[in-house]
Amino acid sequence: MERKIFQLGDIVQMKKQHPCGSNEMEIIRMGMDIRIKCVGCQHSVLIPRVKFEKNMKKVLRSTLPPETSLGTLD
Ligand SMILES: [Zn+2]
Repeated sequence: MERKIFQLGDIVQMKKQHPCGSNEMEIIRMGMDIRIKCVGCQHSVLIPRVKFEKNMKKVLRSTLPPETSLGTLD
C-alpha cells in the first residue's frame, strides 16, 4: 500500500464524511496522535496516527511543497 505523506496545515479528504456533510479536514496538530479540524463545522478531533492514515483518503491541498530544501542561509 502507498505511504501517505501529509504535514501540518494540510487539507485532507477523509473516507467517511463528517456528520456536518464535509469530508475535508485540516491537520492542526501532528504527533503520536493527529488533531484534525473539520473544514465544514470547525469541530476538531484527536485521533491516533494509524487510524488517521487508514481513514484519510488523500491530501487535497498542501501548505508546503514536500521535500523542499529548507533554505540554507548564507
Ligand atoms: Zn464537520
